[in-house]
Amino acid sequence: MRAACIVIGGLLAASLARAQSSGSERAAAGGAFDLVVANGRVIDPETGLDGVRSVGIRNGRIVTISRARLRGRTVLDATGLVVAPGFIDLHAHGQDLPAARMRAFDGVTTALELEAGTLPVSTAYDRVAREGRPINYGFSASWLFARIAEKEGMKPTGELTFFQEAQRRKGWQHTLASPDEIARIIARIERGLQEGALGIGVLAGYAPGYGRKEAFAVAQLAARVGVPAFTHVRYTNVIEPQSSFEAIEEVVSLAAGSGAHIHIHHLNSTSMRDIPRIAELLRGAKGRGLRITTEAYPYGAGSTVVGAEIFRGNWRERLGGATAGDIELAGVAFTDSTLAEAQAKTPGAWIVSHFLRPDRSAADQNYLDESVLFPGGAIASDAMPWTSKGQPITGDVWPLPEDAFAHPRSAGTYTRFLRDYVRERRKVTLPEGLRRMTLIPAQILEASVPQMKRKGRVQVGADADLVAFDLATVSDRATYTQPNQTSVGMRYVIVNGTAVIRDGKLVRDALPGRAIRRAVR
Ligand SMILES: [Zn+2]
Repeated sequence: MRAACIVIGGLLAASLARAQSSGSERAAAGGAFDLVVANGRVIDPETGLDGVRSVGIRNGRIVTISRARLRGRTVLDATGLVVAPGFIDLHAHGQDLPAARMRAFDGVTTALELEAGTLPVSTAYDRVAREGRPINYGFSASWLFARIAEKEGMKPTGELTFFQEAQRRKGWQHTLASPDEIARIIARIERGLQEGALGIGVLAGYAPGYGRKEAFAVAQLAARVGVPAFTHVRYTNVIEPQSSFEAIEEVVSLAAGSGAHIHIHHLNSTSMRDIPRIAELLRGAKGRGLRITTEAYPYGAGSTVVGAEIFRGNWRERLGGATAGDIELAGVAFTDSTLAEAQAKTPGAWIVSHFLRPDRSAADQNYLDESVLFPGGAIASDAMPWTSKGQPITGDVWPLPEDAFAHPRSAGTYTRFLRDYVRERRKVTLPEGLRRMTLIPAQILEASVPQMKRKGRVQVGADADLVAFDLATVSDRATYTQPNQTSVGMRYVIVNGTAVIRDGKLVRDALPGRAIRRAVR
């Protein structure tokens, strides 16, 4: 797209002409705006704006969107680029600084840990605030951490490693909670909500022995406080009973009975080849007014700990004919015996597990597409923490060590969706694709988190979280065997008015990320 050339006064035009001659980044000292993103194809999924504009930013907010040329202290030339709201990820387990930097290359400007959540909530927010982040961050209050604490007497640390360590014990996974225990679990979650958590993280699938009444009490708490319950459903299984379908029915029942808004994480990995039936169930429930939202990521493999409940018992059958070879550790497939050994010795180790094979089967690609493109669904990454030799990579490390490992979704979810679903296979239009990565996730949260009303939009008054990318070249590069590869094509990634990616490169000392947190009276 060509920029419209509008003359707005001789003096200004002359100074702009001088500034323009100095390359992609133009300084115009004393300009009206802190930052201008100039002449990009601006797409706002809420208003339907799709045209060449310049965006003027002051104090971290968008103050002007104009056909006219704008003066700024810094002007970033977005000619030929798509300018859109920064991507909002509702599902980001990797909450360390290196993980956040990888996400910035993928266009993510807000990455929230809502599925697992954390406890204590203040500890997690304080830790991240002390370190600083290039992108915005936030947490839900973890039902699972509360349950582990209650059942095992373990003290939650505000870190995901607490969940990995708990894999060595099993009592919290399979036993019912007594009424007194339920009351204390609820009290622990409620404390997290009082500390500003964004909802309740419900990793139901990791403790499928919980009782129906416990689940209902959690949903009632979500409804009473007015926050979503972010749910990894109880079962991942294509055969009855205890099927994925049954697990989605449980969500429908909880939403109907409590009035809570329930968000279903990774519809793809828990529905697998049962997505046609599950999609019908969800369309019916949503059509009758239940507050259920969904998300998915554009990969046919998931990632979890090797000791997870879904790999126990008759798991091969439940996962639709899976084998140990479908599970990989750092790119190496297991055998039956190495899998059993890892489950016994290192149950908290992160692995990759192929639940669909879209690269080998057109039918599997169709199943994945149905989950990823479920009407009204968000794109969310389920991005994992990065590890090296089994140890988490934390602190001010960049670039990541060569052997750094995580599921490739931790680096490439959003650019992969843009490349595969928007550009190459044209499954969705660009505005619709962007809507799933920006406005929809903002809307999922904004009823309970007013901050989110200013995100996911390119509008006057919105937070200046923006991406500017080249649609012709934007792409993921991370693979299952070589995940440590940043995405390409994001020319600028701007968070709260500050560029964290400029000319495709990380601005290492830019840490403008802010906490997304509920204000609690
Ligand atoms: Zn999950």
